[in-house]
Amino acid sequence: MKKLLKIKRKGTSMNIIEIINKKRLKQELSKEELVYVINGFLTNEIKDYQMSSLLMAICINGMTEAETINLTLTMLDNSDILDLNQIDGIKVDKHSTGGVGDKTTLVVVPLVASCGVKVAKMSGRGLGHTGGTIDKLEAIKGFNVNLSNEEFIKQVQRIGAVITTTSHNLVPADKKIYALRDVTGTVSSIPLIAASIMSKKIATGADKIVLDVKVGKGALINNKEEAQVLANLMIKIGNYFKKEVVVVISNMDYPLGNNIGNGLEIEETINILKGNIDTDLGELCIALATEMVSLGKSITLEEAKQLVINNLHSGCAFDKFKEMVTYQNGDIDDINIASQVIEIRSNNKGYITNIDALTLGKVCVDLGAGRKQKEDDIDYGVGIVLTKKINDYVQIDDVIAKVYVNKLGIDLKKILSAFTIELQPIKKEPLILAVLRKNMF
Ligand code: URA
Repeated sequence: MKKLLKIKRKGTSMNIIEIINKKRLKQELSKEELVYVINGFLTNEIKDYQMSSLLMAICINGMTEAETINLTLTMLDNSDILDLNQIDGIKVDKHSTGGVGDKTTLVVVPLVASCGVKVAKMSGRGLGHTGGTIDKLEAIKGFNVNLSNEEFIKQVQRIGAVITTTSHNLVPADKKIYALRDVTGTVSSIPLIAASIMSKKIATGADKIVLDVKVGKGALINNKEEAQVLANLMIKIGNYFKKEVVVVISNMDYPLGNNIGNGLEIEETINILKGNIDTDLGELCIALATEMVSLGKSITLEEAKQLVINNLHSGCAFDKFKEMVTYQNGDIDDINIASQVIEIRSNNKGYITNIDALTLGKVCVDLGAGRKQKEDDIDYGVGIVLTKKINDYVQIDDVIAKVYVNKLGIDLKKILSAFTIELQPIKKEPLILAVLRKNMF
């Protein structure tokens, strides 16, 4: 890790209270001030309560583009930067802003690798109501998510696909700030999200990046205009670092796919990788993989899409997933799924017009699939399988969901309350709302 920069400005000494006040008054913070804040926070000279106050001021008053780029640079100054140049070919990375039932990384990494594009992916654990890729992979018995940087690079060289947890020194400032944001209501700030995601993407060293910005009731960002602003900002930050960035903006009003919960999401991943792609999840995975393959191989989107679909149907994508799981010591035939299943039945007849992703995400945390506190253990086997989706017609007593549990006392009414059933179907928003490819260099 690079040494923390110490700020010494002749004749002036910086002060966190002045910096908080400056942001409260909507003024732009200088690079030196941001360096002072990040270094002070990492060394505990700036306290959590002071940082929380600054984060809330940023959340309310925003940051300019220059400030956001400087924040990203400063977070990177204190991070390991992986050198993937020793791996031949173009390396492509992806990131999602997170949602309920979002298992696209698990599908897309082996899928893209099966098309001949190397993917070196570091992922996180779940926090709040959204799950994390690393927790999902740990539902596979034996799967090793803790690779050293050397093992990470070696695996990409050998098999073209790897997913591991972020190493200790990868953007430590983001780890510390994100944990604080999660408990201070400051997660949904556009510049903070942009700096958090882009610092990690730059530090992981890929040449090209595809981002999935989720918008809707189950996402961090709830409206399309804000999603566009975030997307453009991340493209600009990427361009600043000479990285080509494509952003797919996708709808997160409803859970993605059918399964929510760690082991259950691995099962659904396998299903898609075996070619069962006629679902919302299949559509999004194909869209993201197509962008990545097109970038990685410098081929047209049409050619990339054909390759992606062929590999899903031929079994090549699933074979790559099995190879990756075996390489990381996992046993693909041993996935943790709870054995006790409770059916949730409709108490009405009509069309399903809403499935509240946020409610179901929170119920899954209550079941044990996610953490309420950072140090909580999780239950990999529990979760919810949706047996009906938006605009499906149901009769009274039809099974609309199945709940996989390991303990009693589950609030089944809450699960039922997540479904709205009405006489008429709704006009559904498309899943993919926009794709932004504005690269400036
Ligand atoms: N994902 C991240 O990595 N950071 C954020 O701030 C939000 C989503």
